[in-house]
Amino acid sequence: SAQQQTLLNELDWDKQQGLVPAVVQDFHSAKVLMLGYMNPEALQTSFAKGLVTFYSRSKQRLWTKGETSGNHLQLVSIAMDCDRDSLLVQAIPTGPTCHQGTESCWDGEVHPFMHQLQELIHGRKNADPTTSYTASLFARGTKRIAQKVGEEGLETALAAATHDKFELVNEASDLLYHLFVLLEDQDLSLADINANLALRHQKAGK
Ligand code: AMP
Ligand code: ZN
Ligand code: ZN
Ligand code: ZN
Repeated sequence: SAQQQTLLNELDWDKQQGLVPAVVQDFHSAKVLMLGYMNPEALQTSFAKGLVTFYSRSKQRLWTKGETSGNHLQLVSIAMDCDRDSLLVQAIPTGPTCHQGTESCWDGEVHPFMHQLQELIHGRKNADPTTSYTASLFARGTKRIAQKVGEEGLETALAAATHDKFELVNEASDLLYHLFVLLEDQDLSLADINANLALRHQKAGK
């Protein structure tokens, strides 16, 4: 492809002694998944297979991520950084990316906060309702959660209508939090919304 040719020609391969670091990001969640190294052949193979392929320094050969585990990274796009010596690879993982079984090679506080919040809400689903507001919402059921989303939506609209920015930030935060709880209650997540929005964007021809 044209993108592939541009990358091959313009990357500063010499500076990196032929191995350019490639950060892999989840296309839907924006989470940073892993770091690998690519040589020109790895780059070409990634495009040819549609699966992210590195040059493994330990194996000393091309390595298509998931070749034994089946946890592939479906290639979406590859971009160079400002000084053309590293890559950002966007991909859709078909399973946990880390060989230790986690979604990302980095755990903890490195993900976008929206996702941390969502994970926290997920963890409260079966928690004790007397110790957690989120757990108490789940315990009261879908109708109550849906009602809260309606209320917070109205409060958000009112804050905007009265040009109260401080209130708007507060009410929009309430709304997003309760919306996350509602999505979780329905076994949905931000990833489903992201995927749908991206699909619409595609259909609209950008
Ligand atoms: P896989 O490519 O998923 O089939 O895994 C094959 C081998 O590659 C594993 O046994 C690990 O040694 C290594 N490996 C897999 N995933 C990663 C990763 N995210 N970071 C570093 N090494 C990995
Ligand atoms: Zn750079
Ligand atoms: Zn890992
Ligand atoms: Zn509110």
